[in-house]
Amino acid sequence: MTDRYQSLAHNPIGKFVVKNLGLPNPPELERWSEGAPLVKGTVLIGAAPKGTLGTTLNTTLKSSGIDVVGVRAEGKKYKGLVFDATGITDTAGLADMQQFFTPALRSLAGSGRLVVIGTLPEQAATDTAAIAQRALEGFVRSAGKEVGGNGSTANLVYAGAGAEGALASTLEFLLSPKSAFVSGQVIRLGLTDLVTPDAVADPAQPLAGKVALITGASRGLGAAMARTLHRDGAAIVGLDVPGLKDELDAVMAELGGTSIAEDITAADAPKVIAKALKDAHGGVDIVVHNAGITRDKRLKNMKTENWNLVIDISVGAPQRITAELLKQQLIRQGGRVIGISSIAGIAGNNGQTSYGTAKAGVIGFVQDLSKRVAKDGITVNAIAPGFIETDMVKTMPLGIREAGRRLSSLSQGGQPIDVAEAIAWYANPGSSAISGNVVRVCGQALIGA
Ligand code: NAD
Repeated sequence: MTDRYQSLAHNPIGKFVVKNLGLPNPPELERWSEGAPLVKGTVLIGAAPKGTLGTTLNTTLKSSGIDVVGVRAEGKKYKGLVFDATGITDTAGLADMQQFFTPALRSLAGSGRLVVIGTLPEQAATDTAAIAQRALEGFVRSAGKEVGGNGSTANLVYAGAGAEGALASTLEFLLSPKSAFVSGQVIRLGLTDLVTPDAVADPAQPLAGKVALITGASRGLGAAMARTLHRDGAAIVGLDVPGLKDELDAVMAELGGTSIAEDITAADAPKVIAKALKDAHGGVDIVVHNAGITRDKRLKNMKTENWNLVIDISVGAPQRITAELLKQQLIRQGGRVIGISSIAGIAGNNGQTSYGTAKAGVIGFVQDLSKRVAKDGITVNAIAPGFIETDMVKTMPLGIREAGRRLSSLSQGGQPIDVAEAIAWYANPGSSAISGNVVRVCGQALIGA
C-alpha cells in the first residue's frame, strides 16, 4: 500500500510544512534496478592494525566489481565506508574505528552504507578481545540511528573462524541498494561448520539451475520473493491456498513457474508438496516458508482456534513440510531453508501474543535446524520483517500504522522488494557460510531488540 505522508512530505508545500513543524522527513531510499552497478560510487575502507582480513577485504570488493580506495580524498563523497575491526583486541582499540568513521562520515553520500567487520566474540582468543568485539554491536546500532536521516544504514558482520573468505555475497548485499531497508543488523558467518562459499557461475543469474519453493506466493511479500528469485535465475514453484489459485496462477504464468494450490496446514500437505517438487524438478534447492497470518486479539480475548491457526501456519506446518522434504532427501546439497519471522517475534507486540509466539518459534526453528543439516550442506536462516507496505498492514488501525512507519531510523515502511532482496542474498550460492541467522528487514524500527 502507499504511504501518503511520505508522498506529501516530498512535494513543495509538504516539504515546507514538514521542515517548519519539525515533522519526520522520510528520505527517499535508493533501490537497485536490473543492469545497474551494485554500488553507484566509491567505497572507502579502513582497518585496525593486525586484523585477520589483511588484503582480503580489498580483493573481495574489487572482484565484486566495486570501486574501492584505502585513502580518503578531501571533498570526495563515498557511497560506502567499510572498517575491518577484526584486529581490535581490547576496548582501547575501539578508538581506531572511531578515528576512521568520524572524519569519513562527513563524506558519506545519500543512501550510503556503513559496514563494520569483526570476529565472533565467542571465538575470541582473550576475554578483552571478546568484550571489544561485542561492543561493535552497540556502535553499528547507534551509528544506524545517526545516519538514517539521509537514507543511510549501518550494519555489522562477524566473520567466524574460517569464514573470512566468505564475505563477498554479504558485502555485495550490504553495500548495494538491495539492502535499502536493512540497518542496525548483526550478521554472523561461520556459526556452523559451513564456512566455504559455493561458487557463483554467473553473478547476473546467481540462482540459475536452482528450484525455489515459496509458500504464500500469490501476493505481498511472497509474490515479490518469487519475482526476485526468478530474476536471479531460479525456477519458481509457488504455493498458496486453493481460494487464491487464480491469483497464484497469474503470478506463476508471469514467471514461467508452477503452482501448488494447497493449504499448508492440511494433513497431507507435506506429502503433496514433496510429490509436486519430485515430479516437476526431482527435488528443490530453496524453500521459503513465507505463508503467515495474523488474528490479533488481546490475550484476555484470545480464541484457541485462532491461536492454533496462527501458530500452525507460521511454524507448525513449516516444520512438518521441511521434515518430509528432508526425509525424502529432496532438499539438495547447497540447499536453503528460509523462515519468515517478524520483529513481533523478537520484541513482542501489544495484541499479538499468538503472532509473537509463532514468529519467535520461527527463530527457534532456524536456530535448531541449522545445526542439524549443516552436514548435508544446507543452510537455514530467517528474515524478520518490520513494517512492510503489503495487504497485511491495511488491516492495522491508522495510529498504529503511522507509528509503525515513522518509528524507525528511516522513518518509513519498507517495500516487499526489500524483504525479497534479503531472501535472494540468503539463497545466493556464495552465502553458504550464513546459517542460523535472523536478520531484520525493518529500517531499524525502534520497536524490537
Ligand atoms: P499477505 O497476507 O499479503 O500474504 C500471505 C500469504 O500467505 C497469502 O497469500 C495467504 O493466502 C498465504 N497463506 C496464509 N495461510 C496459508 C495457508 N494455510 N496455506 C497456504 N498459504 C497460506 O502477507 P504478507 O505481508 O505478504 O506476509 C508474508 C509473510 O511475512 C507472513 O509470514 C507475515 O507474517 C510476514 N510478515 C509480514 C510483515 C508485513 O509488514 N507485511 C511484517 C512481518 C512479517
